[in-house]
Amino acid sequence: MKQSFLFQNLLAAVVLLISLGDVHAQGKDPFRVVKPLNEHFQPLRFGEIRPTGWLKKQVTENLDGFTGRLDSLVPALITNDDIYGKQRLTRKVKSKDVGAVSDQGDWQVQFLWWNSETQSNWWDGYIRSAILTEDAHHLTRVKNYINKILATQDADGYLGIYDKELRYKFDNENGELWSKATLLRGLLAWYEYTKEPKVLRAVQRAVQNVMDNWKLNASHPFYSINPYVGGLSHGLVFTDVLENLYRLTKQRAYLDYTIFCYKDFSLQVLNEDAQYQKLLDTSLLLKGHGVHTYEHLRTVAAAYYASGNPALQVALKNFLQKIVYTTSGSGGPVGDEWIGGRKADATKRGYEYCSIHELLHSYGELLIKTGDDQYGDKIEKLFFNAAQGARHPEKSCINYLKSDNAYSLTGSLNNDTADKKQTRYKYSPVHQDAAVCCVPNAGRIAPYYIQQMWMKEGDAIVASLLGPCNLSTTINGKKLVIEEETGYPFQNKIRFKMLSAPGTVTLKIRKPAWAKKFKLSHAYRLENDYLVLRQQWKANEVIELEFFPEPRLEQDQQKAFYWSYGPLVLAHPVEAIETKGKAFPLPGFYELTYEPVNLVVYKYSNHPLNPIEGKPGSFQTLFFNPITQQDEPITLRPMGETILRQVSFDSK
Ligand SMILES: [Zn+2]
Repeated sequence: MKQSFLFQNLLAAVVLLISLGDVHAQGKDPFRVVKPLNEHFQPLRFGEIRPTGWLKKQVTENLDGFTGRLDSLVPALITNDDIYGKQRLTRKVKSKDVGAVSDQGDWQVQFLWWNSETQSNWWDGYIRSAILTEDAHHLTRVKNYINKILATQDADGYLGIYDKELRYKFDNENGELWSKATLLRGLLAWYEYTKEPKVLRAVQRAVQNVMDNWKLNASHPFYSINPYVGGLSHGLVFTDVLENLYRLTKQRAYLDYTIFCYKDFSLQVLNEDAQYQKLLDTSLLLKGHGVHTYEHLRTVAAAYYASGNPALQVALKNFLQKIVYTTSGSGGPVGDEWIGGRKADATKRGYEYCSIHELLHSYGELLIKTGDDQYGDKIEKLFFNAAQGARHPEKSCINYLKSDNAYSLTGSLNNDTADKKQTRYKYSPVHQDAAVCCVPNAGRIAPYYIQQMWMKEGDAIVASLLGPCNLSTTINGKKLVIEEETGYPFQNKIRFKMLSAPGTVTLKIRKPAWAKKFKLSHAYRLENDYLVLRQQWKANEVIELEFFPEPRLEQDQQKAFYWSYGPLVLAHPVEAIETKGKAFPLPGFYELTYEPVNLVVYKYSNHPLNPIEGKPGSFQTLFFNPITQQDEPITLRPMGETILRQVSFDSK
């Protein structure tokens, strides 16, 4: 997440402060607790949902690949930097290897938190993947790591990356909250799985240490003399930890601190899209560093639910609409790395893997809070298309940046030669020439999808995201085990098999918005696009659901056309020549670039899709070739399986 600071909007930020002052004077404090809202769904404990089928295969491949071996691929950033322990940052540390080959000479002190992000985001994905696959080797490694990190906790509860003279005393960029947010998310996943009280206690003590040092409504954790910040504003998602702790302990103090974090963040002079006053201005397009913006979405939602303040409801609504403008056909949220006040564009705008993950996580939190099925559709689109489409279909490597229309992947965006230093549009298992941020997040996204496939709604169980998995939980005091057998989204039949006899339980299944035609084996009623089944369930009872999707012609933000089929976005694969780049000391790991064999950028010419026999999700159709001036037959495939491709087509 390397930043080049492009924007000067100090003035706008000052105006923001003045107008916020007005708001307070009028007694309309947007951060005041009015009536806290209950979350609609209750997430399950991590580990209660286990992947099967293609989802398990993907998590296993990640563990065998970049997720399981990142520490060997970049030992300087992980193994050799004990940043939470013996090598905490002190005034004496002037520079260190933070994982990017510098193009600007010396690294400034502000970036020195970087290895904490690399390590903790990597561990978060690793911990969750090890739990999901129950792999003994990986679980042992995780256990050793947890014990090692818990041993770094100071007597006062401090867990973090700064020594005593630096911590909580900043007037500029820092990673105090961000290094904790990334670390504690992983620790909480481990606690939910193991139920070891010492892990929860350690997290609570670490959070209490923050609340003791940065007092509620009497301190400024987000103050910076420099409005261009990275780690400092990433630190806003410390609210992930606060919300999770609230769900586990029901202690209101965590929600009050959530509101305080968002309030202080909004009051400071920062170049960040998610500040309250900027969200009120619907004419202001998103322009900040993409990954910040998309992760901050869930903090705004958290502050709204914690306060129930209608002013924050407006801010959240506006924020969601602004994100619609920057979302490409595949669901990918643009920002390369900056959103730059411009809309999504299939050819001219890239999206970062970090942003794909962070937006998925934010939509997941909105699904929990609202129960609104539209977030399920958004998550499925993002995960099955943008995320799969930026992950190599066979090798263990990803694109740092990718666009929906990917005509070449040699470092730059579709052979744009303007930015000579751009290296992110290629496949790598690390991307060390930019930053090792996206690869750790590529190991987190599947576990985050999986953990939200089932939720509770009081005494009902909800299939909230679809795909192959096993659920094992308790409901009404009884064991509930359901096997969800399916090849979804590549096939559209789902079998829910009751492996226990839970008695009378309400089962809700999210019906995707595109599923106009479907068949269900049991009696149901439709409630806000959820299929609701309530009866006494027998062990081994099977519920069969089948969707019958039709190809759908859709338009992206530039009004270009693309085809969808079920939750899948379709692409015309472009034949490519592969070149092996940098190799790594581990066998089988290298960078890959791709150039087209014979690129034709087709145009849409109004022909229907014909399914190809025996290849689900594959179609033949005619598109217009502007070189030959003829309509030509081309094949469309799920974009998640493609490397070079055309997704979006202008009219002829
Ligand atoms: Zn990244």
